[in-house]
Amino acid sequence: MELREVLEALKKAGKITDEDIMEIVGPSNEFKQLVDAMHLLLCTKNHDTECSYDHEDVFEKYWEAPAHVEWCEKVNDFLSAFKLDDRKGLAAMAAALQIIGSQPRAVIYLITKYFNERPNDDQDQAPELGG
Ligand SMILES: [Zn+2]
Repeated sequence: MELREVLEALKKAGKITDEDIMEIVGPSNEFKQLVDAMHLLLCTKNHDTECSYDHEDVFEKYWEAPAHVEWCEKVNDFLSAFKLDDRKGLAAMAAALQIIGSQPRAVIYLITKYFNERPNDDQDQAPELGG
């Protein structure tokens, strides 16, 4: 049995939660890739003055720095809204990126619309879709 299967069995049995795992091992590589991709694609803030995400990698534990924590929460909300785990979320993002290659405006519109309509998320603004 793979470690992932053991963890899934323990979760199913109610012995541990995602939060327990996160507390011990931190976010998975799939989750981190997904957060990086979503930030890259969706963050509409100015990266010199408004968003520190791109500058936080100077910290040893940059996944605990403010902008990384904020984007981890956004991605967690996104994954639970669509009932996806880290792997499926990353696969969904990869699929979305492929579609973006052919239908960029439609996909970016839908994703930013999703993020901008989340509660308590009023700082984000929709990107310019024209041009
Ligand atoms: Zn940003």
